[in-house]
Amino acid sequence: MIKQQPPVQKNQQLTVKIEDLTHEGAGVAKVEGYTLFVPKALPGEVVHIKVIKTNKGYGFARLLSIETASPDRVEPSCPIYQQCGGCQLQHLGYDAQLRVKQKQVKDVLERIGGITGIPVHPTLGMDEPWRYRNKSQVPVGEREGGLIAGFYQERSHRIIDMDECLIQHEENDAIIRTVKQIAKELGIRGYDEDKHRGTLRHVVARYGKQTGDIMVVLITRGKELPKKQQLIEAIKSKIPNLKSIVHNINSKRTNVIFGDETRVLWGDEYIYDSIGEIKFAISARSFYQVNPEQTKVLYDKALEYADLSGSETVIDAYCGIGTISLFLAQRAKHVYGVEIVPDAIADAKRNARLNGITNAEFAVGEAEKIMPWWYAQGIRPDVIVVDPPRKGCDLALLETMLNMKPKRVVYVSCNPATLARDLKVLEEGGYTTKEVQPVDMFPQSTHVECVVRMEREEEAN
Ligand code: SAH
Repeated sequence: MIKQQPPVQKNQQLTVKIEDLTHEGAGVAKVEGYTLFVPKALPGEVVHIKVIKTNKGYGFARLLSIETASPDRVEPSCPIYQQCGGCQLQHLGYDAQLRVKQKQVKDVLERIGGITGIPVHPTLGMDEPWRYRNKSQVPVGEREGGLIAGFYQERSHRIIDMDECLIQHEENDAIIRTVKQIAKELGIRGYDEDKHRGTLRHVVARYGKQTGDIMVVLITRGKELPKKQQLIEAIKSKIPNLKSIVHNINSKRTNVIFGDETRVLWGDEYIYDSIGEIKFAISARSFYQVNPEQTKVLYDKALEYADLSGSETVIDAYCGIGTISLFLAQRAKHVYGVEIVPDAIADAKRNARLNGITNAEFAVGEAEKIMPWWYAQGIRPDVIVVDPPRKGCDLALLETMLNMKPKRVVYVSCNPATLARDLKVLEEGGYTTKEVQPVDMFPQSTHVECVVRMEREEEAN
């Protein structure tokens, strides 16, 4: 075999046309059939690039200048967009972001799942695709003796000081600025990751958009929080609507934000928020959707696709804190939820009680083990809803779903590739994909969620 060399070399400069966009938001160019990824370049653009790395089958290049810009290109709103890496699509207008996400879902379903000819609807986006996040977690460090808090520079652990993030709720930005200022004034030291010294590692702000409730979490390296009383008093006096200050201790050398020990320093253990009619209690460690407005859009769609009349038995697999289960329970006879994280199930049960919901029950465990057990108990759901993590559903779970023979399956997915793989299994098992609705939960980023409606084909007899 002739050993093929890439047609371009490192440091070479050239002009290319961008043909596509990857799932990570990079432009794709072809040079004599060889693929070059060009971050921040958009389909249709003619750009000058410099090759920075060549692998055997593909390479990477840096965008030097744009000869012909895409009509969809916009000036990024955020001044730190280039350094941060938190968002990947700010240079693409929002309507175009929604179109790109719809196309990605459609293409992946075809390519991986062989699913064609079904409606993949236009992505449901936000009217105002900024300031949507309700939780801010910022790393704290020190530079030239002063405390800083902001974000890690893209692909590094260098903290860049920051005062605002345009996808973060204004309240959270204000909270972080306030806590940072107070800590600075009190002489509290920021954490030094290299030396594993210093005090404050992270500040987390959580905000209930519907209630206005605010929680501040201070994560420290040691058990002691110096100037604790002054800190509490200052935070209380400067943040109206504050409901809770929590201290978490993380003494390990780790990238994980939270440690195992959590104490309430002041106020309540929980703040509250609601999505639609359902109220949620949120503790420092609770999982809670970061964009509740779009979560409602997503779960309303799931509910529509579940098409419940009140008499159905429903299973919600990978149920987390029971967000979907509690939505479903309002319209079903009985809902079973299963989830692997015990704390999430404790939250799901608490949230069911909080809302007076008595027809939802929750089990802790691997869905692929609990579902066969439910099947063995004779549980035969009319509808199964799944909302798995990025790696998709376990095959054993899909097989149990096929054994249970529900009339409808509603698949909520955060990864179109594993969705396509799983839909193929269900299609082979007698289900038909009817429609797919992409929903934009994370504007300005490349993430895309979708909800799929599947129905069981009537068995011929
Ligand atoms: N709908 C949920 C979120 C689902 S995210 C909510 O709104 O709260 C996917 C969930 O699957 C996570 O909570 C994760 O902990 C859980 N999970 C991951 N692997 C699992 C498994 N094998 N069995 C059950 N749950 C699992």
